Amino acid sequence: MLGQMMHRPLRIADILTFASEIHGKEGIVSSTVEGGLHRTSYRELEQRSGQLARALARLGVTNGDRVATLAWNGYRHFELYYAVSGMGAVVHTINPRLSAEQMTYIVEHAGDKVLALDLTFVPLIEKLAPHFPADMIYVIMTDSAHMPETSLPGALCYEELLTAESPGFDWPEFDENTAAGLCYTSGTTGHPKGTLYSHRSTVLHAYSCALSLYSAMRPGNRILPVVPMFHVNAWGMPYAAPMAGATMVMPGPRLDGAALWDLMDGEEVFSAWGVPTVWLGLLDEIAKRGAKPRALGEVVIGGSAAPPAMIEAFEKMDASVCHAWGMTEMSPIGTTGLLHASEGDLALPERVAVKSKQGRRVFGVDLKIVDENGARQPHDGKASGELYVRGNVITSGYFRNDAATADAMDNEGWFGTGDVASIDEKGFLQITDRAKDLIKSGGEWISSIDVENMAIAHPGIANAAVIAVPHPKWDERPVLIAVAAGDTPPSNEDVNAHLAQHLAKWQLPDDIIWVDSLPLTATGKVSKLTLRKTYGAHALSEQSAE
Ligand code: ADP
Repeated sequence: MLGQMMHRPLRIADILTFASEIHGKEGIVSSTVEGGLHRTSYRELEQRSGQLARALARLGVTNGDRVATLAWNGYRHFELYYAVSGMGAVVHTINPRLSAEQMTYIVEHAGDKVLALDLTFVPLIEKLAPHFPADMIYVIMTDSAHMPETSLPGALCYEELLTAESPGFDWPEFDENTAAGLCYTSGTTGHPKGTLYSHRSTVLHAYSCALSLYSAMRPGNRILPVVPMFHVNAWGMPYAAPMAGATMVMPGPRLDGAALWDLMDGEEVFSAWGVPTVWLGLLDEIAKRGAKPRALGEVVIGGSAAPPAMIEAFEKMDASVCHAWGMTEMSPIGTTGLLHASEGDLALPERVAVKSKQGRRVFGVDLKIVDENGARQPHDGKASGELYVRGNVITSGYFRNDAATADAMDNEGWFGTGDVASIDEKGFLQITDRAKDLIKSGGEWISSIDVENMAIAHPGIANAAVIAVPHPKWDERPVLIAVAAGDTPPSNEDVNAHLAQHLAKWQLPDDIIWVDSLPLTATGKVSKLTLRKTYGAHALSEQSAE
């Protein structure tokens, strides 16, 4: 027997019309590319998104067309999110930190018809435009006063397009499985791969995000995505915040510690979300100024493992850390680390230990860990294996890439994350490594994340990464690549003595290479690929790890 309830398609545009009606005074504060702060409300954003949708329709954008964006976090990028998906087209967010070759590849692969770009990226796109389709429509996201002289063919001014249209829009109805967004992962090997989100997956993910990050997602809260809108929809915040009635404070292009500190303090941001590298910058700034931004009560850390030393630093200043894990292919949130009220007040060391794990799965995401034969492993906190996921916000296959899809899905229809993990009895996930980053020494696995976390806790080390280096006897051995906190790096003996407090002798790095900074990927994570290319042939003696 079927239930007898209405079936209304889940549509992204309904989030914004709801926010406009119910949370109309909340909205977005943006640090703009042109300079200065801009303030707007969800009411105004809904009206302007309608104007934009009309303008895009006039340019010939229709159902299923891809409209690419190359932009920082700001209100115009938000309007593009809603106008493009709301009219039935697809927002393809491009990561500006991709290489020229990758960017040309994805513009071609996605079949983009329009490219909307911030002023910052005009020089970059002028160079790439000859490799883009000749009929590409370029929209520069600024007003007429700031329109640059440009060689981009037929470049249009965003604000002029809007001025020509009347506000609001009668958002069309379509199947909730209609494609809404497209995001390519940076691709550690081979070409980037596209995840094609639907209206249904995006709205369900917004519910999930609001539910699993409930401390941030409250009416009137002021929250800041450092995580970019060009990467996995800023972890879903631009959909969950208007749904929940929170105001977003958008950092624009200014992501250094000092700029973030000023914006957070000035705008009384309660919760801020980003990858660990960003928080290293903010913690530095907090140390310099001797105070945290005044309203900061929560820091959501994801994208790569949050080192315990970082968690401790924030917790000590009463900024509660929520460690989250996810992937582009998962919209992205898979697990979040808010502690339940019933879990009581843990003392700092226990709290840091629990929060160093990647949190518990959110409703709607199923997790399984399997051994190399695909056999399920128990959730006992000890067994580890490759992590697979299943759910309505998880990709069912890469956009126009059957080979990558076949590689990623198992025969039960689960998606393979490529992460190696354990899950404990309480449901906490612990990521040990990316499968390809694990170090296999003499038949035993060494977790690069464990060694990195320990290294970063050394007062003389500002940042660190561990890679495997080939070894004639042990197959692979770990090498630590580190950035010193002061002018003189600590000695190798000193670092190893520190690591030896928690690691077995055979897990200690064979060598330490000191560098001024670590290379980052397009999404701001430490690039192990670059480190492997640079230091993979680092010579080790046969005696090491005896
Ligand atoms: P990209 O590599 O393009 O940045 P994603 O952002 O989708 O793509 O990266 C997802 C991967 O990032 C995960 O599979 C995992 O390896 C890593 N990751 C994300 N969050 C965490 C976390 N909290 N701890 C450890 N690894 C993480």
